[in-house]
Amino acid sequence: MRLNPGRNRFEEYPPGGLELEADVCVIGSGAGGASAACALAEAGLTVVLVEEGRNWQPGQFEPTASWAFKHLYAGRGTRATRGNCVIPLAGGRGVGGSTLINSAICFRTPEPVLADWRQNHGCEHFDAAWMETCFDRIWKTIGVTVNPPQFQRENNRIFKQGADALGLKGQWMARSAPGCTGCGTCNQGCPTGGKLTVDRSFLQLALDTGRVGVYGDCRVEGVETVGDRVVAVTGRTIEPQHYAASGTFRVKAGKFVVCGGAIGSPRFLMANGLAAGPVGQNLRIHPTAYALGRFEREIVPWHGVTQGYYVDLWDRGFLLQTFSMPPDQYYLSIPFGGDDGLTVMRELRHYASGGVVVHDQDSVGHVGPSELVYWMGDEDKRRLLAGVREVARVYFAAGATQVIAGVHGVPILHSPADIDRLVVDDVAAVELGLYASHPMGTCRMGVDPETSVVDPAGRVWGWSNLHVADASMFPTSLGVNPQVTVMAMGLTVGREMARSG
Ligand SMILES: Cc1cc2nc3c(=O)[nH]c(=O)nc-3n(C[C@H](O)[C@H](O)[C@H](O)COP(=O)(O)OP(=O)(O)OC[C@H]3O[C@@H](n4cnc5c(N)ncnc54)[C@H](O)[C@@H]3O)c2cc1C
Repeated sequence: MRLNPGRNRFEEYPPGGLELEADVCVIGSGAGGASAACALAEAGLTVVLVEEGRNWQPGQFEPTASWAFKHLYAGRGTRATRGNCVIPLAGGRGVGGSTLINSAICFRTPEPVLADWRQNHGCEHFDAAWMETCFDRIWKTIGVTVNPPQFQRENNRIFKQGADALGLKGQWMARSAPGCTGCGTCNQGCPTGGKLTVDRSFLQLALDTGRVGVYGDCRVEGVETVGDRVVAVTGRTIEPQHYAASGTFRVKAGKFVVCGGAIGSPRFLMANGLAAGPVGQNLRIHPTAYALGRFEREIVPWHGVTQGYYVDLWDRGFLLQTFSMPPDQYYLSIPFGGDDGLTVMRELRHYASGGVVVHDQDSVGHVGPSELVYWMGDEDKRRLLAGVREVARVYFAAGATQVIAGVHGVPILHSPADIDRLVVDDVAAVELGLYASHPMGTCRMGVDPETSVVDPAGRVWGWSNLHVADASMFPTSLGVNPQVTVMAMGLTVGREMARSG
């Protein structure tokens, strides 16, 4: 069978296995895969897109962490890096990839980062004019807008109040959630469809061409090659009850683009001996740390836009951003347990939560066949602690009666005078309460096959028809939330693949 245009799922697959054929096979359907598929289909090519996770409809999502971890998170939510600290590293699995569970924050790629990529990594395809074209297209396609104040609610408003009082440069965040009603469950799957995830935006545009078949529940594992060409990929279909490998499939195509994300893509390339150079190296993740502020009035941090407000401290290597999560996840983040932890949980409605996102600079990490390693550098750790102190200052400026710094061993802060005295740089990285959801850099782009995995058009060195289009291509850390940049990568690699005949 060539391909069945539209969305296909496990229940429809023949017991004897799927045999598919198209001009291009896209592996993975996240921010990179969906936008690449759109660019390829709009250029007139037929596309089979294979994705390990399911095709979901907004009404199917359940607003609990346990449901979401099982159905929407890579590794059922247990993925974490290990090194001199342990960092949960969230990622999505499903048609739509991590956009299914992301907070919808949208930043254009900072020009200093693009200039560095062009000057020092040979990324000439990312010139300012083309990137502006991509950003305009992305803004329109995923409906980027600032959500109105009534949906931001207190967790975001109180942060703005404190930042304003300190004279910090802050803004409401632009988000790909034009229909957001502030239910606060972005990270469990948007139940109303108010968030425009890529399965409902870029991928829908691709499907509208009639040239694309999306195959959910299909995990790509193997590859067939002839000379310097990939001729087919093979894999297992995944039954949706227990997520066990079941049947088989094979996709024949003229070109292939790997979009499994910064963990999935290097693992696929490594497992099949498709890439040399630094494949899997240079893992960057934008580590985050946090503080909680307690207020006399109720905040109810799990209500409202999940992440609505930020303060730009780019010059110092970090951003402050509000965040929220379901109550059970707050419990896991409190840096002390026992009665004190239970008291915070009883009073959780009075707390606000804000974090710091660091532009990683001296940390080093890598993705191995089964391990994820990240060693936090001293400078990145200092920036995280500086950010935790800033969040504490913001909360006291907004009238907090106490602040919990997300650092083990630091007692509750009762006044601004406690901040510098108690949140000191001289703590081990392992003491910080950390989290990350922006893996990148593990198939980095460049001009030298010794130091990069793909060339500036996203083609894997050594192969004439194998490309990568996802967050793994970033030559460096980005410093801002990455989904828009990943979509720009997808559009650019898709354009280059279509042009290359
Ligand atoms: C909880 C969370 C919140 C976030 N919030 C934001 C935010 O607010 N703003 C922002 O800019 N960014 C955010 N991000 C990050 C952003 O969503 C990602 O950077 C972006 O989606 C990465 O795109 P990608 O294409 O590289 O990978 P992904 O979007 O992760 O997609 C990869 C897809 O490939 C599939 N796959 C992997 N291997 C295989 C295989 N072998 N066979 C078949 N399929 C495979 C996976 O199942 C997955 O669906 C967030 C991420 C998370 C997890």
